[in-house]
Amino acid sequence: MMSVATHVLETPLAKVRDQIARACAEARRDPGSVTLVAISKTFGADAIEPVIAAGQRVFGENRVQDAKAKWPALKQRHGGIELHLVGSLQSNKAKEAVALFDAIHSVDRPSLAEALAQQIARQGRTPTLFVEVNTGAEPQKAGVLPAETDAFLTPCPHPSALAIAA
Ligand SMILES: *Cc1c(COP(=O)(O)O)cnc(C)c1O
Repeated sequence: MMSVATHVLETPLAKVRDQIARACAEARRDPGSVTLVAISKTFGADAIEPVIAAGQRVFGENRVQDAKAKWPALKQRHGGIELHLVGSLQSNKAKEAVALFDAIHSVDRPSLAEALAQQIARQGRTPTLFVEVNTGAEPQKAGVLPAETDAFLTPCPHPSALAIAA
């Protein structure tokens, strides 16, 4: 899956879709292979509703608590919502994250992977997990270092459930 994250609520959705279509045409790839993740963090349900009405179904949040405050009700009102956690995750929030999110983009350490695996087993929910790789090895950024990525993946209990997000 190729994802494009955008603060879509600040940009007309049609314009973003048009940009994706043009980029795909240029790169000769299928626009259907691109997932637009609309970043809804900091926006309230009132701002999100029109974007759902316009057909967007995949949304990104950066904080478990904020997402928990608005998405359960929105999910109940609208079918087919896919919620992604794009921000960092503390292991003690793994339970809530597994319960709420359909994808988690920020698996960056063994303790978090273990906490998520435990919750996945317990809850029977299987969010898509992305390993966050710090491709530029920038000290101020989160993520597994490129040289350590293979070693990080080896002990993962469900390697088939993991994808690499760079
Ligand atoms: C906000 C955001 C993140 C990370 O969120 P943090 O606040 O740094 O935890 C990641 N990706 C995108 C696209 C974002 O908008």
